[in-house]
Order: sequence, then C-alpha cells, then structure tokens
Amino acid sequence: MRVPFVDLKVQYNSIKPEIDAAIQSVIEKTAFIGGQFVNAFETAFAEKCGTKHCISCANGTDAIYIILKAMNIGFGDEVITVANSWISTSETITQAGAKPVFVDIEPDYFHIDPKRIEEKISKKTKAIIPVHLYGQPARMDEIKRICEKYKLILIEDCAQAHLSEFNGKKAGTFGLAGSFSFYPGKNLGAYGDAGAIITNDDGLAMRARMYANHGALKKHHHEIEGINSRMDGIQAAILNVKLKHLDKWNLARHENALKYNVLLSGVSKVKTPRIRQNSSHIFHLYVIRTEDRDGLAHYLKSKQIDTGIHYPTALPFMPAYQYLGHKPADFPVAYEYQNEILSLPMYPELHDDEINHVVNSIKEFYE
Ligand SMILES: *Cc1c(COP(=O)(O)O)cnc(C)c1O
Repeated sequence: MRVPFVDLKVQYNSIKPEIDAAIQSVIEKTAFIGGQFVNAFETAFAEKCGTKHCISCANGTDAIYIILKAMNIGFGDEVITVANSWISTSETITQAGAKPVFVDIEPDYFHIDPKRIEEKISKKTKAIIPVHLYGQPARMDEIKRICEKYKLILIEDCAQAHLSEFNGKKAGTFGLAGSFSFYPGKNLGAYGDAGAIITNDDGLAMRARMYANHGALKKHHHEIEGINSRMDGIQAAILNVKLKHLDKWNLARHENALKYNVLLSGVSKVKTPRIRQNSSHIFHLYVIRTEDRDGLAHYLKSKQIDTGIHYPTALPFMPAYQYLGHKPADFPVAYEYQNEILSLPMYPELHDDEINHVVNSIKEFYE
C-alpha cells in the first residue's frame, strides 16, 4: 500500500463540482485580479477569524513582509523570532531591513520558548514573531505578556495554523496582526499561491492594503512606493469554497492524529506530538521524534510511505545565517530536535488502513 505524504487530488475530487463552478464563474465574470471574489473571501475569512480586517496578498511570505513594512520596521531594528520555522519568517525580517534575532524552541512543543525571549530583547527590538508551527498555537499568554511589558509589536505567523485556538481565541488575533499562507499544501490551500493578513487595527489595515498595492489606495495616487502583492480571483473563489469545509477538515486531521497517538503509544522509541492544554491543534503536520530518524524514514520509504522533515536544519544553522555566527549551544533544543523530527503522512482524507500501515511499519522497524 502506498501512503503519500499529502493527497490534494482526493480532496479536489470530494468537492469537484463546487470548485469547477467557482473557477468557471471567475472566468465568466473576468474577475481575474481583485474584484468580487477576492472581496468575498476577505470578508468571509475575517469573519471566520473574528477580526475586523482581512487584507489578501500574493502569498504567506509577502503577508509577513507587508506587516513589517506597514509598521515601519526596518534598518536598525531587531525582530525576535523562533529558531525552528520555514525561512519566510526570518527572511522577511531581513528583507524589511531589520535583523532577525532567533530564540530557541520550547521542549516538546517546537514553538518559541517564552522563557528565553527576554534575554534576547534589546533597545533595538521592535517586534516578536512567534510561529504556530505544525498547527498548534505557541504559548500566547506568556508571549503576549512579554510584548506588553516591553511594548513590542506582536505579529503571529499563522501559515500552518488556520483557525487553531489558544484559550478559545483564534491564532492571529492575539497581537497586532496575523499572517496566513494559502499555499496548496496548507490546511486551507489555494490552487496556486495566495496569502492574507488579519488585524483589528484600522491603521495597519489601511497601510498594509496600500503597501501591497504599489503604495496606492486610490488608483494613480501613490502615497508611497509599495509592492505588487495581490490575490487573484481564481484563488479567492477556490478559497471561498474550501473555507466552508475547513472546520471539518481540521477536525479530520485532529482525529487522524489521535489515532496515530493511540496506536504509537506503545512504541517506546517514538515520542508522539503533545497537545498543549487549552489549545487546539489542527495538525498541519504530524511530527514525531525518534532516534535513528533517517533509518526510520528510509525504512518507511521502502514500504512506500512518504515522510518529510520540517525542518532538517534550524534557521540559525542555515548557510544564509552563518554571518550571525551561531553555535549549536546557542539553540540546544532546536539543534537536538532537528535530527529527531519526522513528519508522518497527514491530511484529512487519510484512511484508517493507511494509518495502520504507517504504524505497523514503524513497529516493524523498531522490532
Ligand atoms: C508556508 C509558510 C510560510 C510562507 O508561505 P508562502 O505562502 O509559501 O509564502 C511562512 N511561514 C511558515 C511557518 C510557513 O509554513
């Protein structure tokens, strides 16, 4: 039995008539860029997240960059973020002109460790970007308290955490703004690139919209120079269809994760993911930790099971950040975990027999 890492085709087949009709109507109305489908998605997504504004853009990387630029964060500033993430989180800080300052991850949860943030705060620190990695929110109560104490801007990278919650509050609503990616493989995925920003702040919403649209709110009236970062109508129409199914899909992922957790609980060599108290985990990724990770991945491959590593090298140890001069001892948890983490197949439509095949193969490997 082959078990792919994700299967976007099976999801498409389950909603094919709705998707095909949505794409067709965009073409009929030639609403290719901006327009009614994009407006409708922005309204629906803001409502779903419980925020006043949603500003769509071209992708999740731009979403972070636009927030930073709209907040005038740049040269001479420092922005604190987490050692284990996708590079978008830190490269956008550099793109904006500021310096990324990394913090190690919390044992077991893979998120920015609140206990290690304060030692990284300097006079230059302007903002903190926690990442709700794998679909579970970071420790938002502690992080928010630190931001308030030091008057820092809180920006949440929610690219992997659409609609997940901490203490009953949606990811992306704890600080100034949340950034989202709708890359096809994300829990809410377009059929191409797309992204968005959510915020309750009128000023930020206005500036972000302006910056993403060449610095103009009115056509041919450029208050500033900006960039061209927009969602296209086809992606918006697809996202509008998929948003209606998102709660159900997130729940299905969660149920699949609980099945893995139960079935793997007897395998002493495997540490299954922990779910934070008072928070929901939407399992964008199901990540275990284990010794001989590479051996296990290789064995699973031989059993036609695809796996992934998110991420094989923590950001501070990437060649791109060699100039910062970091050593493994600076981020001991991220350094240890990068060799232990393995992402197992995870998507809403994963079947019990597929989960069983993955688990049985893992058991075989360790026997
Ligand atoms: C996917 C992702 C992004 C970037 O999203 P794109 O839409 O691919 O630009 C940013 N941060 C994290 C944590 C991500 O997983």
